[in-house]
Amino acid sequence: MKVGCHVSISGSIDMAVDNAVERECTAFQIFTRNPRGWHAKPLTAKDIDNFKSKLKESKIDRLAICAHMPYLPNLATPKKDGFEKSLKTLINEVERCAQLGIPYLVTHLGSHLGTGEEGGIERLVKGLTEAGKTKNDVMILLENTAGQKNSVGSDFKQLGEIFKQLKPSKKFGVCLDTCHAFVAGYDLRTEKNVKETFEEFDKYVGLKNLKILHLNDARGELGCNLDRHYHLGLGGIGEKGISSVVKFANKKKIPIILETPIDDERDDFENVRIAKDFA
Ligand code: MN
Ligand code: MN
Ligand code: ZN
Repeated sequence: MKVGCHVSISGSIDMAVDNAVERECTAFQIFTRNPRGWHAKPLTAKDIDNFKSKLKESKIDRLAICAHMPYLPNLATPKKDGFEKSLKTLINEVERCAQLGIPYLVTHLGSHLGTGEEGGIERLVKGLTEAGKTKNDVMILLENTAGQKNSVGSDFKQLGEIFKQLKPSKKFGVCLDTCHAFVAGYDLRTEKNVKETFEEFDKYVGLKNLKILHLNDARGELGCNLDRHYHLGLGGIGEKGISSVVKFANKKKIPIILETPIDDERDDFENVRIAKDFA
């Protein structure tokens, strides 16, 4: 089973590996830099060496780690300068992943800011295609969204339509977030629901393109479009649903990454342990 959580790079980027090992992760996700700003300080040779050698020591499979794009970029934006800045950031993140030996970069699909889906998707596809031209083996993973107002890609059919436009296909894949799917209206509460939701996903997007699973329970109810993650088994999806998802992902050998909160109720050490118990 490949399972772990999003870990901090606070201090230096190689600390992520220590944090993952401490939490007994066999998979993990990082931001390669501060996710709340536009600026990224270039990685030094020392950063890269330390990260790679710690990863090797850790015995965590390189194919079970991923990076997540920072929050500010929006490739579906109608604002020209915003689009250019977002694209530059995406290309830079792809290159940083290549330097670190990280095979996957998860990205959100952005917001058309009320200007309409068609134009938003057009810009998004243009930007992703541009980033796909970089010479490296990093795969960009499109993450399904929670269905907030003006957002693109919460519906599997639409996600599939976007995905199919992206070339070359070896540069693109998909990341499924269970919280986002659930609050976007895909039921995951029972084994039968989980089976049907993945069938729907397979029909439009293709299970073979699913490279990373974001395993989060939801603070809200089915179809509420509220992007608030919650502890495994304690939210709207519940124990039965989460354990069915875990079993499904394990059968398909898809790495599971938790983005659950850390609060008085539980921390990430516990959520990772619980995800293993669900298997
Ligand atoms: Mn995300
Ligand atoms: Mn996610
Ligand atoms: Zn989310």
